[in-house]
Amino acid sequence: MADHTYDIAIIGGGILGIATAMELTHRFPKLTVGVVEKEKRLAAHQTGHNSGVIHSGIYYKPGSLKAQNCVTGVSSLLAFCDENNIKYDLCGKVIVATGEDELGRLDDLFERGKANGVPGLEMIGPERLKEIEPHAAGIKALWSPNTGIIDYTEVTEAYGRKFRENGGEILTDAKVEDIKKGSDGRVTLITNQGDVSAKYMVNCAGLHAHTIAHKMGVPYDLRIIPFRGEYFTLSPEGQELVKGLIYPVPDPRFPFLGVHFTRGIHGDVEAGPNAVLALAQEGYTKFKINVKETLATLTFKGFWIMAAKHWKTACQEYYRSFSKGTFTKSLQRLVPEIEKHHLTGGGAGVRAQAVERNGFLVDDFRISQTENAIHVRNAPSPGATASLSISRGIVDMAEEAFDLQA
Ligand SMILES: Cc1cc2nc3c(=O)[nH]c(=O)nc-3n(C[C@H](O)[C@H](O)[C@H](O)COP(=O)(O)OP(=O)(O)OC[C@H]3O[C@@H](n4cnc5c(N)ncnc54)[C@H](O)[C@@H]3O)c2cc1C
Repeated sequence: MADHTYDIAIIGGGILGIATAMELTHRFPKLTVGVVEKEKRLAAHQTGHNSGVIHSGIYYKPGSLKAQNCVTGVSSLLAFCDENNIKYDLCGKVIVATGEDELGRLDDLFERGKANGVPGLEMIGPERLKEIEPHAAGIKALWSPNTGIIDYTEVTEAYGRKFRENGGEILTDAKVEDIKKGSDGRVTLITNQGDVSAKYMVNCAGLHAHTIAHKMGVPYDLRIIPFRGEYFTLSPEGQELVKGLIYPVPDPRFPFLGVHFTRGIHGDVEAGPNAVLALAQEGYTKFKINVKETLATLTFKGFWIMAAKHWKTACQEYYRSFSKGTFTKSLQRLVPEIEKHHLTGGGAGVRAQAVERNGFLVDDFRISQTENAIHVRNAPSPGATASLSISRGIVDMAEEAFDLQA
């Protein structure tokens, strides 16, 4: 006899698990839904360690899931925040070209943004840039006035309250250790808090989504490789140099690379993050090592193919991780007055980056379905911005796959 029984169990109390739980119970009020989260609180991993940016949808390939879900996700997110008194600030963002060689890529971004339907985008010259960000240096910039900042932990907690009001249950401090399928077709999640039985399961386990999927019979055709993003917090003097969000023109091969300045909704300003291989799925510090998880990464063929292709970039990122001087130099390209002493203590987040067996870095969201289950196997940035749109997509998928009746 299971300790908890639901129609649908969701693994993961990050923003996507909780958004999906809220949407499921809103659209199918007769369903019993439970979320199983291994930490004592919601949003303890990617959601609670991200940059807190409300992305507007500039970077993504037109037609991709990222492009579609980001643009629709922003309007849903802002409407939710307005209804629920969650603070956000559409402070705007500049993507700054500092050299002639970046101008072509900046133009491409402008075209992408327009194709994706991002409102208000404007190409600006150095004078207008100085009005928006007086301390930024650049020969040209893309101005996105509708990019904003928010606290995604607060958003997740608000989704959680709605979910509970809809009758849902959240089990925290409950780690799914194994999954069994019974002869009756039900799924049993074996947790450290007892068994959870469900007809269907949604896997929103973030950095561990591949392991959970594997327990449900999905082959390791892709693995989640953890990349730590380290950042510094600017001193009060350094904060004076940044009004909103100042980003470099990204390398299209690695859109998530490129240190930048991010003003947080609580007033702090962060500089970073870089991207280095973490030696544990939740490796928030350089010295946190999980031997089993690291071996799993190192014995995955896709990791070595990726490493062979991108070793130079990886070495540069590692070097910068150990050298504050190099980190400062990268930042000075955007804001020349930034000095090493402005960079004070900071933190880190770990990105769940899916890599295929052939070494391909999965860029777009990847959500797939197996018998009785839906798996979110790649949900990088802008996953938090797009959370309400992604969750609607997951619930559409569940409605069809699980034959849900309202
Ligand atoms: C450094 C960084 C910066 C980012 N910046 C932005 C940004 O500015 N804007 C934006 O839109 N997006 C950003 N993102 C992306 C965004 O944070 C993610 O897309 C989003 O948080 C994914 O949510 P999730 O619920 O899938 O994952 P998570 O938040 O990681 O949640 C997964 C949950 O599953 C739980 N779990 C795992 N295994 C088990 C188990 N066995 N049993 C029970 N529970 C389990 C974990 O404890 C965790 O709480 C950023 C990400 C990172 C890492």
